[in-house]
Parts: sequence; C-alpha cells; structure tokens
Amino acid sequence: MRVAVFSTRPYDKTFLLAANEEFGHELVFLEPRLTRETCRLAEGFPAVCTFVNDELDAFVLLTLAKNGTRLIALRCSGFNHVDLRAAEQLELTVVRVPAYSPAAVAEHTVGLILALGRKIHKAYNRVREGNFALDGLLGFDLHAQCVGIIGTGKIGLHVARVLVGFGCRLLGYDVQPNPQAEALGLRYVELEELFENSDIVTLHLPLMPTTYHLINEEAVARMKRGVMLINTSRGALVNSRAVVRGLKSGKIGALGLDVYEEEADLFYEDLSDRVIQDDVFARMLTFPNVIITAHQAFFTRGAMEAIARETLRNITAFEQGLTPLGLVTSESVRAVSSR
Ligand code: NAD
Repeated sequence: MRVAVFSTRPYDKTFLLAANEEFGHELVFLEPRLTRETCRLAEGFPAVCTFVNDELDAFVLLTLAKNGTRLIALRCSGFNHVDLRAAEQLELTVVRVPAYSPAAVAEHTVGLILALGRKIHKAYNRVREGNFALDGLLGFDLHAQCVGIIGTGKIGLHVARVLVGFGCRLLGYDVQPNPQAEALGLRYVELEELFENSDIVTLHLPLMPTTYHLINEEAVARMKRGVMLINTSRGALVNSRAVVRGLKSGKIGALGLDVYEEEADLFYEDLSDRVIQDDVFARMLTFPNVIITAHQAFFTRGAMEAIARETLRNITAFEQGLTPLGLVTSESVRAVSSR
C-alpha cells in the first residue's frame, strides 16, 4: 500500500524500512508534522502514518478523506489526538499500536524517579566541572516509600512490578482495578487518599476529556508536602501552571516529565539556537528539582522494532480486508473510559 509517513525522523525511517522488508509497502517519508497546513501532502495516498504530535482534527481528516486516504495508521498507542467521531463519519479506518513495550515506558519512569530522588542530574554536571562536594545532593531511600500509581494498565502494572523490587509500598487508582496489580500488594484507594498518602505520584492513564488536567490546583493541594510527581503518559493530564505554583511553594518537591501539554511545538526538534517562547515550559526548566525529557520514554530499540512491525502489520491487515489488531473505534474509547 502507498503510505505517506508524516513526522519522519531518521530513526523512524531506519526501523520502518527494516520491518518493511517483510511487508513490502510503498513508504514515502515526509519530515513535516501532519497539520492543517501540511495535510495536502498526503493527496492520493490511501494510507497515512502518523505519530504522537500530528494533528488529526476534523478539518485534517476531511482533507485527507477528500484526497483519497482511507487508513490512518498511528505508530503509537495513544489516540487522544484523533477526532474519532469525524473519522467514523468519513469512513476512515484508524489503527494504533496498543502495546509495543510497556517495559520501555515503565523503565524510563523509574529512571526519572531514581534520578530525581538521588539528584543524579545535578551530580553529573557538578563532577564534570570538578566540583566533588556533596552539599545539596542529599537524596532519599526509594525503599519503603509510598508510591501512588494512577492507571494500572500495561505500563502502570510494569511500574508496580519494578517498584515492588525496590521495596516500595504501592497505592493505586484505576477505574478498572487490575487483579495482577493487587497480587503484587498494590492497594486500590480513592484518588484523594492516593494524593494524601503518596510520597511519589506517577501517571499511567490515557488522556481523555474525563482525565484532562487530572492533576490540577486542587489535586496538588491534597498531596503531601515535598511530593514527587511523574508524568510519562500525556502532557495534558497535568495543569502545568498549577504544577509550577506547586514547585514554587515547595509543595511539589520534585517533578519528572516526559510529556508536556504544549509539546507539539517543542519536542522532536533541535531548538537549541532559538529562544523558547513558552513561558510556562521555560519556567519549569529553571527549577533544580525538575527533569524533563522530550517524549522519549518509548524510545528503545526493542520498542521501535515492535512499533514499526505492528504498524505495518496493521496496514497489511487493512489492505487484505481483515480486522487489524490495533483497530480504534469510538466503541474502544468508551471501553477505555468506562473501565
Ligand atoms: P493501558 O490502556 O494499558 O492502561 C491505561 C489504564 O488507565 C487502564 O487500566 C484504564 O482502566 C485506566 N484508566 C482509564 N481511564 C481512567 C480514569 N479516568 N482514571 C483512572 N484510570 C483510568 O495503557 P498503557 O499502555 O499502560 O498506557 C498508559 C499511558 O502511557 C497512555 O497515556 C499512553 O498514551 C502513555 N504512553 C506514553 C509513552 C511515552 O513515550 N511517554 C509511550 C506509550 C504510552
């Protein structure tokens, strides 16, 4: 199938081309993000392949459909950026990669926790400058800390497994409790109780209208003083302004982010010679107790191989008239949100 691959970076090309030896699709790699301005590049392509920060609103989908596109293949698991109602009305099929490597994201999450807890980001810079003093680097034992995991699906469960190994106490909140998490000793509680009792709060749930700004002023107010907050899921789960206020007051003691609600104009670009115009993001970068990575939790060799393979498998299934494993429908959204 002819596929227009948007938001292509060299590594996407490498992994997709390698996987495509098995599938034989005609992949055309395009660097730009898919937006209202760039969607005409897909004219005549029956399939379009996109990533996390591509825009798939009703206007873009209508333009794609008018220009002959029938399949949207997301090479990611999240589908919060797709107007699924519009896609259905336009008879556009949407597929995603529901699970490629929960371990990759879970390990990055724990990496952020460890780095913040032991101030490794500060120590790294200090030692390189010949400063071997320990003042200001005092950390805490992860052992016996209480970690609140919000969303205990594939990634949240893996985080729980790893943290059990560290000897953490685990609280959980999920609209559908996971018996596998309970078997690890995680105790499900209401969100308020989780906020009030957790030393570390980590988010592993999808972004939906009901979860938008789940971490807001009120949530921060309920948290323990000095709490560590980690978000490797989707940026808009967190109200960034509320979090900046929490950092300034000391209520939030450490913040680890792999996602940011306005990341589309920042992440995946080298902006090192430009002035960042987003004042909230720029303010977050000034705190010594904040680590931000640019949506890279998924970025391991194993995960990239799986994403490429499953994306192309979805495209082949669609081409052959079969039901792709990663089919996304508004029914599946309702299933996720009511779980
Ligand atoms: P999953 O579907 O396996 O698990 C999500 C869990 O959230 C489910 O158990 C579900 O019941 C729960 N949930 C849904 N609505 C909820 C609500 N309102 N309140 C509480 N819990 C709710 O998903 P996953 O694969 O574990 O992914 C989790 C998150 O990680 C998603 O947001 C995804 O987009 C994100 N993600 C990020 C990266 C990255 O590179 N940073 C990579 C992959 C996935």
